[in-house]
Amino acid sequence: MASTGASAEPEGSIGWPGVTPADTTTSSEWPGVALYQQEMYREETPVKEPAALLVIDMQNDFCGPHGALAVQGGRELAGPINEALSDNWTLKIATRDYHPADHVSFATQHPGAQPFTSTHTIANPHNPNETQTTTLWPPHCVQGTDGYELISELDVWKLHYIIDKGMDKRVESYSAFGPPFTNPEVCMTGLEDLLREHDIVEVDIVGLALDYCVKHTALDAARKGFKTTVYMNVSMAVDQSKANLAALWKEMHEAGVLVSVHRPTNWGDELNLLDFWNEIIDMAKALP
Ligand SMILES: [Zn+2]
Repeated sequence: MASTGASAEPEGSIGWPGVTPADTTTSSEWPGVALYQQEMYREETPVKEPAALLVIDMQNDFCGPHGALAVQGGRELAGPINEALSDNWTLKIATRDYHPADHVSFATQHPGAQPFTSTHTIANPHNPNETQTTTLWPPHCVQGTDGYELISELDVWKLHYIIDKGMDKRVESYSAFGPPFTNPEVCMTGLEDLLREHDIVEVDIVGLALDYCVKHTALDAARKGFKTTVYMNVSMAVDQSKANLAALWKEMHEAGVLVSVHRPTNWGDELNLLDFWNEIIDMAKALP
């Protein structure tokens, strides 16, 4: 199992040059943790402050019309994200949910459980006293299926790295940094080391889904001391009710995340719904 994610990944399956097993590093401590590295597209031009763009889980299973866990409007994010990927970031990193078929987050693994409504309490495999209660989902992003692939609309050749998460069937990992356990940490992805290696100061986050993987990645990034921005209008939530969006804004804002509804103008205007987002922010500020 030690190299499941790395060695099971056929060379070139992502459809770009430069990704070979030799470019893959696997955590010595935790199984199945891999970074796919694409050296040849690294930018040479320095940016003012080392910044990383994280493109979260833009995968077939999270996008309509056929995704197993499709987020409404998810596929349409590819346009502005591709524009963002053309900008001069120190690091451009995409993440993928990359689950074994018997992953703990799948409702099918728990008799009687219903996807979206049932929850399950997961214990730290190394510490039964540390637990996380999480929502159960339909099976999604299963290794070896089309569902885990990044959507074809995404300009993957602009990426420097792809980071996979959720490969250990025992634990859930919404955050791109790894599962939420801290005592001890389990199955971390190596993202933090990668950011530190490149002296990254600022982390900017877009993608899917706003209320799960984007949010938890942002909360972790802020907690780890990165200047963190979530572009809420380049992200889509599973629950797109105004009440949920307002609660998300407030939670991230209070955690020190800069929650932006503005984007650099060269990212295009098609998703700039500023009146809508200003209403959400007003709602958030009125929350107790
Ligand atoms: Zn998942």
